[in-house]
Amino acid sequence: MTYDVIISGAGPAGTSAGFDLASAGYSVLLLDRKSFPRKKACAGGLTPKAAACFACDISGLIERSCNKMVIHRPDGSFFTIKATRPLCHMTQRKDLDLFCLNQALAAGARFQIVDRIHALVQEKETVTLHTSAGPLTASYVIGADGANSRIRALLNRQARPYRIRKIHGLEADVQVSRPDQVVMAFAFFSDLPGYYWVFPKKTHINIGIFSHDHTPVSVRNLAAFARDCFGTDALSDITGYPIGTGGGRGFRSPGGGRVLLAGDAAGFAESVFGEGIYFAVRSGRIAAAAICQALEKKMRALSVYNRSLAGLRLDLGVSRYGAAALYRWTAPCLKFAGIPAVYHHFSKGYAAGRPLLRMFLP
Ligand SMILES: Cc1cc2nc3c(=O)[nH]c(=O)nc-3n(C[C@H](O)[C@H](O)[C@H](O)COP(=O)(O)OP(=O)(O)OC[C@H]3O[C@@H](n4cnc5c(N)ncnc54)[C@H](O)[C@@H]3O)c2cc1C
Repeated sequence: MTYDVIISGAGPAGTSAGFDLASAGYSVLLLDRKSFPRKKACAGGLTPKAAACFACDISGLIERSCNKMVIHRPDGSFFTIKATRPLCHMTQRKDLDLFCLNQALAAGARFQIVDRIHALVQEKETVTLHTSAGPLTASYVIGADGANSRIRALLNRQARPYRIRKIHGLEADVQVSRPDQVVMAFAFFSDLPGYYWVFPKKTHINIGIFSHDHTPVSVRNLAAFARDCFGTDALSDITGYPIGTGGGRGFRSPGGGRVLLAGDAAGFAESVFGEGIYFAVRSGRIAAAAICQALEKKMRALSVYNRSLAGLRLDLGVSRYGAAALYRWTAPCLKFAGIPAVYHHFSKGYAAGRPLLRMFLP
């Protein structure tokens, strides 16, 4: 059988694309190398704009919404941002991804586990993936298989390489007696161009390290951070994975021929905090819309996709400059951010779900 679309990767980018395409009546095959539910290295924090961009109602998966966050500066001082509306919603990625996959399946998509994709062959009207489960053919393929994308690697063998920048995230869970009393926090230190986070969930605390450059993130540092914050270094579920950023540069199309890259596979996570779920869902949905247009109107899906990504790419570009400034001049940037008039504006824009570029608008 020739599918309309094969999507490799059933994370937020893949399932969002799968849901929209299957809902529009197209035949969709979602592939993943793991069976679900599965653990994914991710803190599961959804910004308001991320929570609002899913096609399905994900409110049942929100364990807790945080209206308050503490920012610790490298000199040991801190400031607290309070907002009337939530600044971040806490979910568990395992549950969120399973829910989104089930929604795509309910809309009519099919799911198959594949251990390995050996080759990608493009013909005039089709793309075939040669996989450990045999050849699979579709009119279009979406590569939504994360920062270490196999689809991107196979495409890069055929054409001018599409490059992304991988940055590192490490996370773990800590058990504390009263997680409900813990406040969401970001901590910046002078020896890390990045930050540590504290995300309070329903039954535990999720902590982690985000490194903006190639400064190594280590379990030892994370355990020391847990000891400082909670008096224990007993970490569980420790996982790390690269985050795909840097893919919004220039006008280079994310993909080639009948293959579109979305989410981290396209380098669409932002660079300041490594937020990726919003950009994965948005780009997945934009890719789906581009393929729908191409199938209906005989247009080139990749050209439509590339054009439709302009706004998202602008946000990603702004975040790259924001990150370069923040991690080069961390102390002055956080001094500025600690001015009440600044963070009130920021928190209002953030809670309203605005992208970085429009954060300071009234
Ligand atoms: C430690 C850490 C914490 C993070 N915290 C947050 C956060 O709190 N909020 C936020 O917004 N972002 C966060 N991110 C970033 C976020 O996790 C990613 O940006 C987001 O998951 C990207 O979604 P995606 O669908 O593009 O890819 P992924 O979520 O990575 O999904 C890719 C899917 O493809 C599958 N796959 C991989 N290779 C293959 C293959 N060869 N064949 C078939 N399937 C394959 C994988 O199993 C996976 O299911 C964090 C990242 C890390 C590492």
